[in-house]
Amino acid sequence: MNVFARLDSSAPLSGDERMLLESVRKLAREQIAPRAGHYDRTGEFPEHNIGQINKLGLNALFIPEAYGGAPLSYAAYLACVREISKACASTGVIWATNFHATRPVVDFGTEDQKRRLLPVIARGGLASLVITEPTAGSDATGMRTTFRPEGDAIVVNGTKTFITNGAHADLYLVFGKWSELGEGKAAISALVIEKGAAGLEVVREEDKMGLRASSTAALAFDDCRVARANLLGAPGEGLKILLASLNRSRPSIAAHALGIARAAFEDAVAYVNERRQSGRRIVEFQGIQFMLADMAAELAQCEAWLWYVARLVDSGATDFAVEASILKLRASDLAMRIATDAVQLHGGYGYCKEYRVERLMRDAKITQIWEGTNQIHRQLIGRSFTNR
Ligand SMILES: Cc1cc2nc3c(=O)[nH]c(=O)nc-3n(C[C@H](O)[C@H](O)[C@H](O)COP(=O)(O)OP(=O)(O)OC[C@H]3O[C@@H](n4cnc5c(N)ncnc54)[C@H](O)[C@@H]3O)c2cc1C
Repeated sequence: MNVFARLDSSAPLSGDERMLLESVRKLAREQIAPRAGHYDRTGEFPEHNIGQINKLGLNALFIPEAYGGAPLSYAAYLACVREISKACASTGVIWATNFHATRPVVDFGTEDQKRRLLPVIARGGLASLVITEPTAGSDATGMRTTFRPEGDAIVVNGTKTFITNGAHADLYLVFGKWSELGEGKAAISALVIEKGAAGLEVVREEDKMGLRASSTAALAFDDCRVARANLLGAPGEGLKILLASLNRSRPSIAAHALGIARAAFEDAVAYVNERRQSGRRIVEFQGIQFMLADMAAELAQCEAWLWYVARLVDSGATDFAVEASILKLRASDLAMRIATDAVQLHGGYGYCKEYRVERLMRDAKITQIWEGTNQIHRQLIGRSFTNR
C-alpha cells in the first residue's frame, strides 16, 4: 500500500459509502475513462456517461429520502466527484453541478418546492447554477438580471454567461435582483426556473480550451414568466443563499481539481517507470525523483485538507468559508502544476494528444478560474486575518 492508498483509506467514509465508492471507481475505470478522449475530441455532451451515472443512482446521493433520494455524507459526495473527474473532468463537473444547484433547494426551499423540484434531480435530471453575467464575474453582486413581481408571477429579464449544463438543464437556479428592492446587494434573490420556460433562450455554447464535453452556455431571459412559487427564500435573501451555496460548491470544485491532479500524477509515475534514456529508466534520475517528490508531497497535503473540510461540513459546521477557499485555491493551483509537470515528464509525447496528460493540462486550467478566481480566493483568505 503506498502513501495515497493509505490516505484514501483514511477518508471519513462509512462501510456503505466505501462500497458505493468502489462501484463508482469501477464505473469510472470501465465506462467513463475509456470514452473521455472521444468526448474531448468531439465536444459531444457525454450522454453515455450521464446515463451510466444515473443507472448507479448517483444523483440520489444529495437528495433527502423524503424526496426520492438516498443521502450520503458530504465526504462521500466529494470522493465520488474526485473519482469521476479523474476519469473525465467534463463528466465530473456536469455531475457536481447538479449538487451545486440543488443543495440550496434542500437548504432553503419550502416543502412544496422540495416536493416538486427535488425528485426531478433524484430521477437523473440536470441542474445549472446561474450567477455569472457578461459584466458581473468576480463581482457577482454587480449582476443586472431583474426579477419583477407581477401578481403570482415573476418576470425575469437579463443575460447570463458561462453556465455549466446550461444547454441541457432541467432546472436552473437563477440569481437576479428584485426590482422593488433596487440595484444593490440587498436586492439579490434566487429563483428556480424549469426547462422550457417561455422567454428562456440558450444563446450559444462556448468552444473551450478544456472540459470540452461539458456544456458552457450563454442564456438570455426575455420577459421570462415564472410562478412566484419558485422563489427560493424571500425577496432579497439571495446573497445569503448564494454564499451558502458557494461554501459547499468550492470544496466540490477542489475535489474535481484533485481528480485531475491524481490522474496526471499517476500517468507521470507510470511513464517515468517505463521510459528509458541513457540506458536507464528515467525514474532513476534524481532530477525526476525530486519532481515526483514535490508533486506527491503537495498532493498528499492537499488531499488531507480535503478530508479535513469534509469532516467539518459533515460535523455540522456552518462557518467554513475560509477553509473552503484555502482548499479551492491550493487544489486548483496544484492541479495546474501537476498536470504541467506531468506533460514535462512525458517529454515531447506529453505535448501530443495520444497521451492523456495533454488533455489533463487543458482541463486543469479552468479550476483556477471558476468558483471565484484564485486571485479572489487569495483576497478572501488574506482579508480574513484583518483585525477589526
Ligand atoms: C468553463 C466555465 C464554466 C463556468 N460555469 C459557471 C456556472 O455554472 N455558473 C456561473 O454562474 N458561472 C460559471 N462560470 C463563470 C466563472 O465563475 C467566472 O468566469 C469567474 O468567476 C470569473 O469571472 P470573469 O470570467 O468575468 O472574470 P473577471 O471577473 O472579469 O476577471 C478577470 C481577471 O481579473 C481578476 N480580478 C477580478 N477582480 C479582481 C479583484 N478584486 N482583485 C484581483 N483580481 C481581480 C480575475 O482574477 C481575473 O484574473 C464558468 C466559467 C467557465 C469559463
